[in-house]
Amino acid sequence: MPLPHVAWIGLGIMGSPMAENLLKAGYPVTGYTLEPHKLDRLAAAGGTPAASVREAVADAAVVVTMLPADPQVTAVTSGDDGILACARPGTLLIDMSTVGPRTATGLAARAASHGVRVLDAPVSGGEAGAVEGALSVMAGGDRADFDEAVPLLRTLGTTVVHCGPHGAGQTVKAANQLIVAANIQACAEAVVFLEKSGVDLAAALDVLGGGLAASAVLTRKRHNLLARDFTPGFRIDLHHKDMGILTAAAREVGAALPLGSLVATLVAAVRAQGDGGLDHAALLRGVERLSGIAS
Ligand code: NAD
Repeated sequence: MPLPHVAWIGLGIMGSPMAENLLKAGYPVTGYTLEPHKLDRLAAAGGTPAASVREAVADAAVVVTMLPADPQVTAVTSGDDGILACARPGTLLIDMSTVGPRTATGLAARAASHGVRVLDAPVSGGEAGAVEGALSVMAGGDRADFDEAVPLLRTLGTTVVHCGPHGAGQTVKAANQLIVAANIQACAEAVVFLEKSGVDLAAALDVLGGGLAASAVLTRKRHNLLARDFTPGFRIDLHHKDMGILTAAAREVGAALPLGSLVATLVAAVRAQGDGGLDHAALLRGVERLSGIAS
């Protein structure tokens, strides 16, 4: 069977390499995003740039969105010239952006009235995971739609799991962001503590990475922490957005998240101090400032 024609909307840090992995696997991909140079990059990888969402989705069987946040997902999917208005009935829309569970369930309800099927399928694994096709994909929606999407999703990620009905993928992603932020904050505090104590940081991180303190965060962010390299990666601005999703969703279901609330405040503080455009490893800069280290 020929591979389905994919429309990809949102070719940023994550979307570009993910769309390129589909092209490498043989999927025809038509893309649209706001920055022209990212469309040039898609064309260089063998994809077809489009001039609008309408043009991108016209011939697509599957539409993937990888957009910054809830307002962009709602505008691109549900606006006058959006995906729901322009896609063919029967199209499968896979929203891989990180948005609130309520945005996902609202989109699924609106899509149903257009005959469009939807999965929420946010990811974890960062830019490196996107480049390597090694993301973790957490999906919500109808099981049959998920099963249909699995071959495509396995091109993008190595762990691909159906978590439940519409919105369940986004709920799991919110939990993921709690764990990641708390883990980065703990690593950042350990770094400041170790350096102020005069311990060799590289040696300390080596041995910590071999014991119970080991984590994907410690491995993937080691260079950022050692070199103070905060090139994004995953921007503090986006993690701030995700902590807002988490705290709102937790409030709705009556889950108390004392650590989550504290880490959300620390992410917000680093952002308020002007570091919103840096990688989330820049939580280290917040700990340094609290500890009297100029950064
Ligand atoms: P990004 O800002 O690099 O890319 C977003 C892209 O969306 C841009 O290319 C922009 O042109 C496009 N876009 C915005 N509004 C648009 C519109 N109206 N029409 C068409 N295109 C539009 O963001 P990113 O880092 O790639 O993240 C995308 C999503 O993935 C976010 O929800 C983020 O939370 C999530 N995420 C990011 C990472 C990461 O490490 N960067 C990891 C996991 C999940």
